[in-house]
Amino acid sequence: MILHETETPEPVRIRDGVRVAPGETDLPPPFHGVHVAPLQRERDEIHWLQPTPRCTRVRVHEHTCECKATIYELCQAGGLTFIRRTVRGPDGPVVHEGPWLIAAKAERLWQHLLLGQAR
Ligand SMILES: [Zn+2]
Repeated sequence: MILHETETPEPVRIRDGVRVAPGETDLPPPFHGVHVAPLQRERDEIHWLQPTPRCTRVRVHEHTCECKATIYELCQAGGLTFIRRTVRGPDGPVVHEGPWLIAAKAERLWQHLLLGQAR
């Protein structure tokens, strides 16, 4: 008796009514976080500074997607809010901080950053 090794075809996967191409990852959208929009021509320049150990406790409220080399985090510490930028380069991560602001101002800057209106 000869046993045939039958090749099982990849099951047909349907996502949102569309057949998913073989090999395509079938990860749901929540797998990705927020992506920063392409930089607009009209934009504010964020003055990035070396991080200062002003507070021991920093809480990260929001952050952009981990799939990008540059990650932005909206952080809160000592009653102020700031944006932390981490660029993961070949020599390791390089961290900078934007200005420390009151929450409302920092939130606005964060939205501008996500929309490509500040960088
Ligand atoms: Zn992503």
